[in-house]
Amino acid sequence: MKYSGFKVIKEALTGHRGWGPAWRDASPKPDYDYVIIGGGGHGLATAYYLAKTFRQTRIAVLEKGWIGGGNVGRNTTIIRSNYLLDGNEPFYEFSLQLWEGLEQELNYNAMVSQRGILNLIHTDAQRDAFIRRGNAMLLNGADAELLSTDQIKARYPFLNTENARFPIKGGLAQHRGGTVRHDAVAWGYARAADQNGVDIIQNCEVTGFRIENGTCVGVETSRGMIGAKKVASCVAGSSSRLMQKAGMRLPIESTVLQAFVSEGLKPLLPGVITFGAGHFYCSQSDKGGLVFGGDPDGYNSYAQRGNLPVVEDVCEGGMAIFPNLGRARLLRMWGGIMDMSMDGSPIIDRTHIDGLYFNGGWCYGGFKATPASGFAYAHLLATDTPHKTATAYRLDRFNTGHMIDEKGMGNSPNLH
Ligand SMILES: Cc1cc2nc3c(=O)[nH]c(=O)nc-3n(C[C@H](O)[C@H](O)[C@H](O)COP(=O)(O)OP(=O)(O)OC[C@H]3O[C@@H](n4cnc5c(N)ncnc54)[C@H](O)[C@@H]3O)c2cc1C
Repeated sequence: MKYSGFKVIKEALTGHRGWGPAWRDASPKPDYDYVIIGGGGHGLATAYYLAKTFRQTRIAVLEKGWIGGGNVGRNTTIIRSNYLLDGNEPFYEFSLQLWEGLEQELNYNAMVSQRGILNLIHTDAQRDAFIRRGNAMLLNGADAELLSTDQIKARYPFLNTENARFPIKGGLAQHRGGTVRHDAVAWGYARAADQNGVDIIQNCEVTGFRIENGTCVGVETSRGMIGAKKVASCVAGSSSRLMQKAGMRLPIESTVLQAFVSEGLKPLLPGVITFGAGHFYCSQSDKGGLVFGGDPDGYNSYAQRGNLPVVEDVCEGGMAIFPNLGRARLLRMWGGIMDMSMDGSPIIDRTHIDGLYFNGGWCYGGFKATPASGFAYAHLLATDTPHKTATAYRLDRFNTGHMIDEKGMGNSPNLH
């Protein structure tokens, strides 16, 4: 079924009886050419591009829970391509370009809103660093603009620019950044993948790999053994637990990151802002809630729920620049498990086991990467060569020392 304005009007006039399920509830077949493990944004996007762009068939996505239940439906919805390093910036810019055409591509309203993102600057050294970052973005074909304090005051009059400890000395703006309705991305990719013949199998947990003579020939699941020519892991925060079943120890740790939503308020915040002296980022949803987040928990965990000390820490960061936040009531909060890599950058690569591929290490920035990650992973799976924007995302960089240390924090994943 194709969605259109005409269809919406017709259904409104006929009691909404003509809407069908957005995708089939497929049952597992004995074997496939491609089995993608994880029905998050990245897994579904991979399946979609594999079928649509790379014209591959016999593809299944295996999801242990339900579509949209993982980080794809838990994040703070921010998209941007304001990265510094060559290994990252072209990839994230490619992703932003795919976001720009996504709704037409998928025939799905994902509420892509390029309302802009502003990184606030609080010290002279930070201004130097952001000028360098802005230039790197421009050199890679992205947009970037350095704003003065007066320009920021005019756009965001409620910000505390004169804070004695954290004065706002300017900001780096990317006007093409913004937000996208997170779970609509999962549903849009699921529907489009299904229309291209992909089997989306929910409630199907992968419990092990079938490896024969160094080649992965399928997966053990809670719904039986499923054979595959190529098996692609794409389970974000569960990466280390899953790949352990194939005998692999990854350069990844898992920690919880929380998101927060306030009660609905009148329009206040035109775009996304980030506080540069602490860790706080905020946007306002179309329903009026302030959507915000900050640091992850400081310890490793697979528990998909948040803790109270982080609430205090994040709200403290928010109040430092945004004092009127203290008047708003917190409505909801939740946690998601982050796959924190040792240099803060992702991995899209083959493994040492033939037929087994890995995508992960997205830390808390993988939502914006969803289209490019899916495209690049599909490219790797279909052609066995990396996509040109993802050549640096090799697994062996942690052996060879070719790290993509975007924040210069080394192997302290909680700081990325
Ligand atoms: C609170 C929070 C805020 C964030 N904010 C942002 C942001 O603003 N911008 C941004 O770019 N990124 C953000 N992120 C990060 C982003 O959400 C993730 O990096 C990204 O969603 C991960 O990829 P995914 O969508 O494929 O993951 P997921 O949706 O988690 O998909 C992985 C799937 O694998 C499934 N799975 C796990 N194990 C198995 C198994 N054994 N068998 C079968 N299935 C399995 C899981 O159930 C899950 O559905 C945030 C994350 C959180 C938690």
